[in-house]
Amino acid sequence: MQPGEFHPKAMTPRKILLVEDEAPIRQMVAFNLGRAGFAVVEAEDCATARAMIADERPDLVLVDWMLPDSSGLELIRMLRRDEANRDLPIIMLTARAEEREKVIGLDGGADDYVTKPFSPRELISRINALLRRSASATDAPLEAGDLRLDPVSHRVTVGDREIGLGPTEYRLLKFLLENPERVYSRGQLLDRVWGQNVYVEERTVDVHVRRLRKALEESGADRFVQTVRGAGYRFSLH
Ligand code: CA
Repeated sequence: MQPGEFHPKAMTPRKILLVEDEAPIRQMVAFNLGRAGFAVVEAEDCATARAMIADERPDLVLVDWMLPDSSGLELIRMLRRDEANRDLPIIMLTARAEEREKVIGLDGGADDYVTKPFSPRELISRINALLRRSASATDAPLEAGDLRLDPVSHRVTVGDREIGLGPTEYRLLKFLLENPERVYSRGQLLDRVWGQNVYVEERTVDVHVRRLRKALEESGADRFVQTVRGAGYRFSLH
């Protein structure tokens, strides 16, 4: 993970389904995605891809245009007609650089496309950008281990246990879950959680961190909210 990347489910690797019939390309892409921290599942044709989407619930799908059973475009159209997959992020992999083909792909329901030959780095940055866009659009829940924050219902749970939080503790936890494994000073937390135009003393942060930990204490999740001596606070599962 790059510092500052927004990963709503940062603690769980994002799962990517790669639909590509050419084994060398599939292996190259799968290898690079794996190295970038994604979980990868693979399909060689549309029929397998549809079964895997149902079984594996990927976070994003990469679809090659030319596939042996039907076209990648057909697969995308089929997914978009299906209620459950209407918002599934999809990137087309295409050898067709022509403008007309890109338009057809995007009109067919792809969110983005990458033209072969592409660099793994370019593909990964497209994937990250699309995941970020779709996460903010759908208000996906933030998860870390058993801890889950649902921005839609404002509900925080650890396993089956619901955690009652005040509004400031909620915002603080949300910010920390969005930015795991990074240390924030009290001043930075004030800016990001309380807002830059609000005058609050830095020790206010300590008070709310203490309240947040107390609320999480019974579930054991308080240990994720860590003090980094001389620096500030950090959310970490380690
Ligand atoms: Ca192909």
